[in-house]
Formats: sequence, C-alpha cells, structure tokens
Amino acid sequence: MVYLGCHLSSTKGFYAMGETAQQIGADTFQFFTRNPRGGKAKPMDEQDAAKLSQLQMQGILGPVIAHAPYTINPCSAEARTREFALQTMEDDLARLEHLPGNYYNFHPGSHVGQGTQIGIRLIAEALNTVLTQQGNTVVLLETMAGKGSEIGGSFEELREILDRVEHAHRMGVCLDTCHVHDGGYDIVHDLDGVLTEFDKVIGLDRLKALHINDSMNIRGARKDRHEKLGQGHIGLDAMVRIVTHPALQGRPMVLETPNELDGYEQEIRLLRERIGENV
Ligand code: FE
Ligand code: FE
Ligand code: ZN
Repeated sequence: MVYLGCHLSSTKGFYAMGETAQQIGADTFQFFTRNPRGGKAKPMDEQDAAKLSQLQMQGILGPVIAHAPYTINPCSAEARTREFALQTMEDDLARLEHLPGNYYNFHPGSHVGQGTQIGIRLIAEALNTVLTQQGNTVVLLETMAGKGSEIGGSFEELREILDRVEHAHRMGVCLDTCHVHDGGYDIVHDLDGVLTEFDKVIGLDRLKALHINDSMNIRGARKDRHEKLGQGHIGLDAMVRIVTHPALQGRPMVLETPNELDGYEQEIRLLRERIGENV
C-alpha cells in the first residue's frame, strides 16, 4: 500500500488541506511552506498544525510533504542568495517542528557555472548549517531533470551530497518520476533496473517519497515539464507499475500534474482503480 495525494494550495491552513485531501480520496498531500517564489511565511498556527497531526495519528492521513520555495538556491554564486536559502530553510524547519514526522523537500540548487563539485559542496554546507542532531523532520533532496546547471540530475550527485551531510539520519530523497525520466532514466521500460541503480548508488532506504508526474518530453530531454497522468511520455501503465512496485510501498506519492482539484481527484481515483483500491 502507498499513500496517494497531490499538491494542494496552503492558503486555508493545515487542517483545511487535510480535509480537502480526504474529500478527493487522498491520504497524503504536499504544500508549499510559503509563496513558491520566496517571501515571508505566514505565522505558524500551532493549533491548526496539531489538528493535522491528529488526523495523522488517527491513521486517516500518512506523512505529508512540505515543499520549499523553488527559488531558493543554496549553491548560488552570490553569498546573499545562499544566505537567503539558509534563512528560509532554517525558518521552515523550525516551523515544521510543530508538524513532527513529516518531510521537507527541496530542489538541491543550480551551480550557475561554478561547476558541479562546488555546487555539491555548497549544498552540503547549507544542510550542515541548518540541520541539528535533533529534529522531527526528514529533509528530502528531490531528483532533478538536470536542466541548465541543476544539481541532482543523477543519483550519483545526490549521493555525493548525502555523503557530506553530518546528520545523515535527517536526510532522504524524493523521486520525481517526470524529472528522472527527463534526466535519462528509463522508468518506462526498465523500472527494475532504475530502482536497482538507485539502490546501488543511494540506497532504497533513503527513498522516502515520490512525485508521480507524467512528462511532456522524451526521456533524457532534461526539460522538466509535467504532464497529466497517462497523457505524456511515461504513460499510465508505467505509472501503475511504479505505484504498485513492491520496493516502493509504504511511501507517500504525490501528484504535481497540471490540474485543478477536480483533475487531481480524477487521477487519484484512476490510480486507485488500477491498483485495486476502491476509495
Ligand atoms: Fe519539486
Ligand atoms: Fe517534483
Ligand atoms: Zn518538476
């Protein structure tokens, strides 16, 4: 069994997202910790967070994913930009302590011409600055499509970051199906091979969550354009193999397809029908 859900707008609060998730047949969801283009977060409503935790303790919802704004770049060439990324991550993690047991996902960053090795070093430094031994949130590096100077387009790059992080127990990986496909991994014809490779390079125990998106582009395009389920180059059959794969069970799987709520609801229902869960 897996937890299925989608990205939700966080404007109405945590408990409201939990209710919306239930209404559309989801048992997990993802939300942005603040405006995805950066900016200040709303003050943390601790009671609201506690009500969401309650739904999770009751087993109604599985772990959820807080997504960092995608504009932060912890491996920027500009000290000011790196500092902004640090402050954002630190603040997000402090707030997520009110929602223990969930995930904080971020895009590792773009090295903007400094080179992959410097990028990897700066990302690990940022994580070593914001992560302490204690803390109830596991931080996830998202697998990226490798467009431009993005770090994280290969499992090896993620492994190199993980190797440098001191508090390794606080780290994991979120696999985005569109991104790995666009990054060149053949999850359509050789899912077992890709997962074996992931296990060899990173370790499947580090894989904590998935983004299940179809892709507008061909494998290896390094583009990162999400498509609705079954309407892209990954296809519905491959997605069903992913969602039902024995090695991937127990994890939250979240849609980030170009949809409004009703579209997400349909995709969740479609997946549940195909995997034989009629919720
Ligand atoms: Fe993402
Ligand atoms: Fe994603
Ligand atoms: Zn993407």
